Amino acid sequence: MKGGVLNSKVYIFSPCVARALFPDILIETKRVIELLGFESIIDRKATCCGQMFFNNGMWSEAKTLAKKFVRLFCDAPLVVAPTWSCVEMVRQHYGEILDDPGLVREWESLRTRVFEITEFIAKRCSIASWGGELKAKAVFHYSCHMPKDEKTRQEIQDLFGGIRGLEVFFPPSEHCCGFGGSFFAFMGAVSEAIGEERLKRLEHDKFDFIVSSEPGCMMHLLSLPEKDARLVHTVQILSEALRSHKVEPLVVPLIEIEGKGVPHSDFYERAKKASCDVALRQKIVYALDHAVEARRKAIQRLGNYEFLKTKVKETREMSVAEMQSLWHVAQRALEQKGIKVHFACDSEEAKKLAVEIAKSCKARLVVKGKSMTSEEVGVREALIETHAEVVETDLGEFIVTLRGERASHLVAPALHLSRRDVQETFERLGFSLDSDDPQCLAEFARAYLRKKFLSAEMGVFGVNVVCAQEGILLTVTNEGNGRLCITLPKVVVGICGLEKIVPSLRHACDILRVLPVNATGQTMTSYVTFLGGVGGGHDGREVHLIVVDNGRTRIAKDATMRPILSCIRCGACSNVCPVYRVIGGHAYGAVYSGPMGIMWTLALYGVEKNADLLDACTLCGECSKVCPAGIDIARIIRLLRGKVFQNKKALRLAYFALKGTTRFRLAMGLYRFSAKNATRLVEKTMRALGIRRRFMPLPRKIQTHEYLRNEKPLDSIPLSLTKDMVHSDENNGAFSPQSMGNDDVLGLFTRMFTQAGGEEMTFQEILKLTAGKVVVCDEKTVPSRVIKALSGNGAKTVHGLEGAKEATFGLTGCKALVAETGSVLLGESSLFESLLPEVHIVIALKRQFVETLDVALDGFRENIGCLVTGPSRTADIEKRLILGMHGPKRVILCVLEANDGQAD
Ligand code: SF4
Repeated sequence: MKGGVLNSKVYIFSPCVARALFPDILIETKRVIELLGFESIIDRKATCCGQMFFNNGMWSEAKTLAKKFVRLFCDAPLVVAPTWSCVEMVRQHYGEILDDPGLVREWESLRTRVFEITEFIAKRCSIASWGGELKAKAVFHYSCHMPKDEKTRQEIQDLFGGIRGLEVFFPPSEHCCGFGGSFFAFMGAVSEAIGEERLKRLEHDKFDFIVSSEPGCMMHLLSLPEKDARLVHTVQILSEALRSHKVEPLVVPLIEIEGKGVPHSDFYERAKKASCDVALRQKIVYALDHAVEARRKAIQRLGNYEFLKTKVKETREMSVAEMQSLWHVAQRALEQKGIKVHFACDSEEAKKLAVEIAKSCKARLVVKGKSMTSEEVGVREALIETHAEVVETDLGEFIVTLRGERASHLVAPALHLSRRDVQETFERLGFSLDSDDPQCLAEFARAYLRKKFLSAEMGVFGVNVVCAQEGILLTVTNEGNGRLCITLPKVVVGICGLEKIVPSLRHACDILRVLPVNATGQTMTSYVTFLGGVGGGHDGREVHLIVVDNGRTRIAKDATMRPILSCIRCGACSNVCPVYRVIGGHAYGAVYSGPMGIMWTLALYGVEKNADLLDACTLCGECSKVCPAGIDIARIIRLLRGKVFQNKKALRLAYFALKGTTRFRLAMGLYRFSAKNATRLVEKTMRALGIRRRFMPLPRKIQTHEYLRNEKPLDSIPLSLTKDMVHSDENNGAFSPQSMGNDDVLGLFTRMFTQAGGEEMTFQEILKLTAGKVVVCDEKTVPSRVIKALSGNGAKTVHGLEGAKEATFGLTGCKALVAETGSVLLGESSLFESLLPEVHIVIALKRQFVETLDVALDGFRENIGCLVTGPSRTADIEKRLILGMHGPKRVILCVLEANDGQAD
């Protein structure tokens, strides 16, 4: 036993990857632990924590290895591993697979004694800053399983901060590198593409090396073809800083195995093709980076996001549990207000219903808003078969439909296209366009689609939320196309899945507060339309709602799948998914893509039939972390993997080898020998096992324990560690969310309204702005003295739908001004005036300011209303923000003073 900081025994758990490939990591871990004054023992009987099998749904195999781990280490005072992923497996997941009460008790005690090495140094030994010297410039790679809290990050930064001469850059980005355990082997090409993106993002060429705490990530990055990544493990830095002051990057011998003509699944081939398309990758990554950054900023602005997220999770779970009874309430409430509710048990029935409605109103032209449920059931195709012209009106959907493609993202359907692609697509309509500037392209689409809106007989729109108690349908859009689809045609048809129900408008407000934040990085989308009746300026207007089951009732009864019904279709999970980021949406080959797409496709169309999609996941867990509905997507994918027999041959072989130390050594030796002497045979075997990696690593010749036997005595290291150490302060780095502050309602409104792109003007300025222009006025909400003053000042005032078509300015009052989101709540009478002209002017009174959405909507009784937050907008072409896509380019608020509009 050595003297030092603490006297105790530390058992080192050596992960299988480190044991086979990186014995240096184990040696340095042992050194570092002994430098801290502990006696260290590398347990030679431990082989694998079972994570690979747990992640692939082989829970009985994972359980055997978990039992072995607990039995081996239950008496160990402390267990340390040079990897976060195995530590996470032991601490977080053993509870899910162990069932023996005695072992569970042992595990509960053991999990508090298992540490990752840097965590052990910082938390268990309370060492805040390491000592020594190492002249190098490095960049840090955060692994997926490393805790992402500020405190852990800071601890690692501080540890390195104490090493003289060492500069470590900690990038804010924390994307997965594409290792993902078996993903590395089964999805080789995609894994490589993700790895390349990761290296690019780390800008590894600018640094001496990349530092990582994860042997798996290191193995993967070192196996990338034609990449020269230099990697060192955290423990190498810590050890060498105190010893030799230089560090050698790790190397892995490789064997090239992937040849031509390997029979793979269709999905794999599509994914491989997409991931090799570097231009496509660039477009997707650019768009998604934008979305992720916008979301991050929006959450920061909110301050109370975690609280809102918890509320949404509760609301969605409760609504899904009560789905059937809530629909009874909703149906009654909606039908009382004249909205016809149709339930469709499957897609055939849904299509039939849409076709019948179209035929009954003799619809020759149908304008359609974005609706993933209608894509799911194929409403557009069904309507086309009735010889109706069906026009998608969301800019992104309009573009992809013209190209005969599907949306490649839930929220941004055309994110895979460049402006040039869009220009070419529009030229297919027979128009010649002078420019590929997104502004010009959007203006062309606006003019083209406006004519369609004004002459359509039927509108189809997606419903985001149905409020049961009040009988109100909510539709959320940014462009205003949803509003136009709902308000202009005489017959309108909403489509939604059975799961889109919530008990009341108050619960809908919970969803409204997080949906835009996650979907587009806005506090509120430009338009939220509330449809609660058949009014809306038309005689003989018909409003229908088609509620699609299509398997949802069955899903609700399945404990594994039920959580997916909580999905609010924000797309945030796709934005952070490392696989989606390199293959895009089309490679999934289904209506829904990305992590939520995997779940929905399997739930709706069968697990076995679509099992290949389960490979499209590294289990990095980012999707589960960002999901505002609290869906643990990674867990669902793990559970589903357990239901299918995908790739099990290779895993069974791996399990056989990992069950015992001797077997593991023999297997590694046999693999190494065969790889060198019978390459073709190894290649054939790998292909037969479903391994699709171009380069596979070869295990090291010297096994860990032999290496340890031959190493120099540890006490020959010349150092004095404790003198350089600083003990940490437990209270440092506590994270406190930003507070929203104490703005008064008016001040808060102004801040939020201008943030959303709104402008404020005095009445005098409005008079000047509208002089000589055509202004359509909503006489029901704008005081007559205001309209008279405008006319008196030279404005031509007009009224109604016909007036709105020709006017440049639309003048409306409002129901309320919502400070929380900077929104203007409009009633039924203001719809055309606030939507068709290029500029919308809101005339308000001071008493109309309210603090929250709930207060504004309390007792909302209009047939149709809209929450307007800033101008109409789109970012569907290369993420360039364009204002005035379908609705006004400007929204101006004028709060009337007592004598405004009075004659002088
Ligand atoms: S699964 Fe979660 S993150 Fe993904 S789209 Fe649905 S709600 Fe959004």
